[in-house]
Amino acid sequence: MNERELLRAVEEPGDAGRCLCCQGALTGNEIGLTKKLLSRRALRYLCLDCLAEHFRSDRATMEAYVEKFRRAGCLDFQ
Ligand SMILES: [Zn+2]
Repeated sequence: MNERELLRAVEEPGDAGRCLCCQGALTGNEIGLTKKLLSRRALRYLCLDCLAEHFRSDRATMEAYVEKFRRAGCLDFQ
């Protein structure tokens, strides 16, 4: 999926409890990070591994983002 296809896909209604790419169960932090990094209007979400792959990054970097937003007091993160 390219950037535009992914952005369109996350904004379409669907199973919000499972990763759009790998169907894995999602945590609240993964939902929050999808909103932060992809789209505020997201209705479907990606797990940390799939977000990392999309951004050609790694899971540790995604976890660092979660921590950064959480510490900033963002309510999307636990
Ligand atoms: Zn996934």
